[in-house]
Amino acid sequence: MFKIKTHYHINFTALLLLICLLTGCNSQSPNIKSATRDNLLGTTITISIYDNIPDSLFDTIITQCFDTINDIEARMSVNRADSEISRLNENHEGAFPVSDDIYELIKNAIQFSYHTTGAFDISVGSVMELWKQDGDFIFLPSPIDIIERLTYVGYKAISFPADNKISIPTGMKLDLGAFAKGHALEVVRGILIKNGIKHAILDFGGDIFTLGKKPDGSNYRVAIKTPIIGDNSLVCIVEVSDLSVMTSGGYERYFEQDNAYYHHILDPATGYPANNKLLSVTVISPDPIGADALSTAGFVLGLEKGMNLINELEGYEAIFITEEKEIYVTDGLHGAVTVLNEGFRKISYN
Ligand code: ADP
Ligand code: MG
Repeated sequence: MFKIKTHYHINFTALLLLICLLTGCNSQSPNIKSATRDNLLGTTITISIYDNIPDSLFDTIITQCFDTINDIEARMSVNRADSEISRLNENHEGAFPVSDDIYELIKNAIQFSYHTTGAFDISVGSVMELWKQDGDFIFLPSPIDIIERLTYVGYKAISFPADNKISIPTGMKLDLGAFAKGHALEVVRGILIKNGIKHAILDFGGDIFTLGKKPDGSNYRVAIKTPIIGDNSLVCIVEVSDLSVMTSGGYERYFEQDNAYYHHILDPATGYPANNKLLSVTVISPDPIGADALSTAGFVLGLEKGMNLINELEGYEAIFITEEKEIYVTDGLHGAVTVLNEGFRKISYN
């Protein structure tokens, strides 16, 4: 299975073909059923079920999955003025009531902010907004504006005045973009398990969850795209089962201005795109929410701090790819990663 996480313009036919090549779905898994939707959570989502189930059950499950993802997006997206998050962002100083899942997610986010000393910070929203026009990351703000908005960033000022109520200071805006996909993967995994599915791949624009093993008992092979703008080759493959594989990189969403590239992962300390000589960070874990948060955080922290953090935390492994074309992998992952791109070399980090 594939980890293709370029910017939005994936040739989907090519992607599916590659998925089949790697998973061997034609020869070994004749019962694989897939469904794809575009423009969900800002990406293309494909759900592939390997269990042998009737078409009618497949349709029911898929409808439930996509309806649920739609609902998550409608409530959590900062790009929708009527989402719960957007309304919370307008309701400063008050105790704003939110749904259970948003409440839990925001509490969870604050734990990750503490673990990452603020490299992961959902209160980066007011600065993020400056970099966007009509929801797209395309605009270079003035340094003065960034400095002014930075005064509203700081997860420690988020408070929980009562159950399911959140309060944020005037000017602060929350943005759940760095782990909304992880949350959606977790929820969809739950739907599949409830329906008795044991083997599946969820591909949320290159962020992956593999459910169980393949029906023949082998691991899924998730390929990671070479994290360089304009290069659509694959850099490595990682063999996994029952794990999420979440990647953050500067090549995903970016714009170019005056020969400089600006990408969408901000260092909350500066308000500018993180710049640590990393091309991408992939975090692998049974926990897709944590993996999503930590891949974003790892990209902000850089190789040394990011790797040290992952090594301290139980249940997370990582692949950090540097501008020097080195693929650093945590010990627990070493045998599972095969390099495909000859320009890169694998190094154990310990
Ligand atoms: P993607 O969603 O493309 O997979 P990420 O998971 O890394 O990539 O999330 C990036 C998104 O997270 C940005 O578009 C923005 O909404 C938000 N964000 C950017 N920088 C940070 C940060 N340092 N901490 C938390 N959220 C961030
Ligand atoms: Mg993330």
